Formats: sequence, C-alpha cells, structure tokens
Amino acid sequence: MNKPLFSFEFFPPQTAEGVEKLAATRKQLEPLNPEFFSVTFGAGGSTRDRTLETVQQIKAEVYNAAPHLYCIGSTRDNIRAILETYKNLGVNRIVALRGDLPSGMAGIGEFQYANELVSFIRAQTGDHFHIEVAAYPEFHPQAKSPRDDLLNFKRKAAAGANSAITQYFYNADSYFYFVDECRKLGVTIPIVPGIMPIMKFSQLARFSDTCGAEIPRWIRRTMESYGDDTESVQAFGQDVVAALCERLLAGGAPGLHFYTLNHAAPALTIWKRLGL
Ligand code: FAD
Repeated sequence: MNKPLFSFEFFPPQTAEGVEKLAATRKQLEPLNPEFFSVTFGAGGSTRDRTLETVQQIKAEVYNAAPHLYCIGSTRDNIRAILETYKNLGVNRIVALRGDLPSGMAGIGEFQYANELVSFIRAQTGDHFHIEVAAYPEFHPQAKSPRDDLLNFKRKAAAGANSAITQYFYNADSYFYFVDECRKLGVTIPIVPGIMPIMKFSQLARFSDTCGAEIPRWIRRTMESYGDDTESVQAFGQDVVAALCERLLAGGAPGLHFYTLNHAAPALTIWKRLGL
C-alpha cells in the first residue's frame, strides 16, 4: 500500500482568537505531513475575503493551501479575478464546487454546475491548478438518480478535475460501491474519502440531515443513548471513525481528508490509532 495522503479542511475563523486557535491547530497537525489544508468558502456564512485571509496565513507558514471556490451566483469575471488572486499568491490547488443557492437569491449567475466551473478554470489557467471536486458516495441529495449523479460526477472528471474528495459517510460500503461504479464508467481520478470525526452528536445529526449523509441507525441509537455524556459520545465516535478509516485504507482508499471543524485532536487521535 502506498503511504496514504492526509489533508485537512478548515473554515475561515471570524475572530482574532479563532485565527490564533487555527494557527495552533495547523501546528498540531504538522506531524501528519499534510498534503494540503483546504479552506471552505461561503459555508457557514464565510466570505471570499475571509477564505482568502486564511489561505494567506497558511501560505505564509509554507503549507500547501487549497481554497474552496463555488460558482453558483457568480459571473465569469468574478471567478476570473479570484483565480488570478490565488495564482498570484502561489496557490496551485483548488476545490471547485457548485455550492448551494442561498434562499432569496434571485439568479444563479453564469454557472449552473461544478463541471462548468472546472472547464472554466482549465480554459483560463491551463494546468496551473490541481482541481479537486466533490463526490457523494451516498449520492447528492438533489440528484435525479444514483446513475445521473455518477454521470454528473464523470462530467467533472472529463472537464479536467484531477481528484475528488467525498462528502462524509459512515458506511464504507457506499464508498467502495461508488468508486467501483466510477471505474466502470472509465473515471480514473483518485477519490479520497472525506472523514467527519464525531464530536457532538446533535450538531452532526443536524449537518447530516441537510447534506444527505446517513448516520446508520446503530450509530445514531448508541449516540442518542449517551445523552449529554460527551466523553462517551467521543469515545464511541473515535472507535467508529477509526474502524471506518482502517477499512477504507485497507480497501485501497488513496488517503483521508478530515473535516476538522478547526480542531486538531480528533484527527490526531484517529491517526495515532491507525498506527501510521
Ligand atoms: P455539482 O457537481 O454541480 O452537482 C450538484 C447537483 O447537480 C448534483 O445533484 C448533480 O447530480 C447535479 N448535476 C451536476 N452536473 C449536472 C449537469 N451538468 N446537469 C444536470 N445535473 C447536474 N459548499 C460551500 O458552500 N462551501 C464550501 O466550501 C464547500 N465545500 C465542500 C467540500 C466538499 C469536499 C464537499 C463534498 C462539499 C462541499 N460543499 C461546500 C457543499 C457543496 O457546495 C454542495 O454539496 C452543493 O450542493 C453541490 O456542489 P457540487 O460541486 O457537488 O455540485
């Protein structure tokens, strides 16, 4: 087995204290030799400026930064300007997404789907960026059918995506099935599982309902039975997620991308338990 690649996702902090805490998180994650740190865009109300600031901080520490960029509601000029800024900063990896249309927004802009953004980035910047796209082992909640979603994923690869990061999931079979189906369709790009450590059950349940990630019943019921006992929730969550990661890597996953929520400890614990 090749050495698995680790990457970590952050959201841009809103306060000076958050900025400091995130710098400490990066330091703690350094021993895992991260391939890159990615920074969300728009999610949770973050703005382009705050994503850019966080990317600048990561670059200043000489880590690889991968800003997320979504296209919904944007114009070509807008995206061109953002790409130019990142290029000038020495960023060479981008997570290209469609994004979700905020309620009350009038138009969808000049892009409808992520594959159009990928094509645009390639047309504008050639091979400068390594382009990551999103994948959904349990299928995107708005997909017409699993088959359609797979074909739409194929469009992103065909448009020039280099690799993909999945939505989080707790059922390894969904990942292996998704990867197999992609390979049958001739999609060869690496598909890295997105891993969500379990810290707070209520928060995870809320997230999962909106993004269509299933929490299997046995996990949900066990978590619920712990109520406010955070220690038990986290201990059980670590067992579940460490076993999931172990299975994914043993089954050929090329690496793991952690949704850190800006915390280092859960990913570090899992990494130690994997004995890597
Ligand atoms: P697409 O690939 O465009 O797919 C969206 C839907 O449209 C799917 O149902 C698909 O089947 C369908 N579709 C795709 N192409 C076509 C087509 N050509 N014709 C018809 N139907 C089509 N959101 C944020 O706001 N900020 C972030 O930073 C962020 N980061 C993320 C990181 C990862 C790793 C993941 C997995 C998700 C992230 N998201 C983020 C959420 C993401 O923006 C949403 O899931 C969004 O609804 C879909 O984005 P996408 O790029 O997967 O869209």
